[in-house]
Amino acid sequence: MEEIKRLQEKLEKKSAQDIIKWSIKQFGNKVQLASSFSAEDMVLTDMIAKVKKDAVIFTLDTGRLPQATYDLMDEVKQKYSIKLKIFFPDTEEIEKMTQEHGVNLFYNSVELRKKCCNARKVQPLNRAFESIDGWICGLRKEQSITRIGLKKIVFDVGHNNIYKLNPLADWTNKDIWDYIKKNKVPYNKLHDKKYLSIGCEPCTRPVKSGEDIRAGRWWWEPAECKECGLHI
Ligand code: SF4
Repeated sequence: MEEIKRLQEKLEKKSAQDIIKWSIKQFGNKVQLASSFSAEDMVLTDMIAKVKKDAVIFTLDTGRLPQATYDLMDEVKQKYSIKLKIFFPDTEEIEKMTQEHGVNLFYNSVELRKKCCNARKVQPLNRAFESIDGWICGLRKEQSITRIGLKKIVFDVGHNNIYKLNPLADWTNKDIWDYIKKNKVPYNKLHDKKYLSIGCEPCTRPVKSGEDIRAGRWWWEPAECKECGLHI
């Protein structure tokens, strides 16, 4: 506990770039960005690639992603020399789940939606964690009522106490898009069609003006349920 308090004091006021530099100096390729190719993750990818050209980032291919996200994966591979690792769900688990509950089970209840997120995201994420000491995330306080108390570094108690870094915790949506434009960072083209937060294709819709950033994710559920289990 003392250790994490010390690191929080040290890093809380640091810039996102400084936190990335510190984490790479500290852990090398044992700290990796978990990218969903969100606008935030693209900012972090660009920052990481500028610090370490051969850095490793990873993503979870749930099997239900929009085509625009796969197109962006390709763009990232072409633009940056960093290594992209892709983790997939367990085939047997997906076969069993869909045979029992159908392919669109997530619309039927919060419980079944979480079951799908667990099989397609949480379990592959746990495999990704087997070889790292820390992960970098694009979470921001502004994104949701579940993220207001976000710190820039924590021990991830739900994942063997590895370090979890949130370098963009205090960035605004405007900060993100200013960085993307200024640095010509590739981004998911669904953002141009009013998709603000992008996840799996069947669980994401565009956002209407005045709605919350994450209103288009699992829009049929109450706001306090809108986490997929990756961020415990
Ligand atoms: Fe399944 Fe939807 Fe979660 Fe993707 S976001 S893993 S499709 S419930």
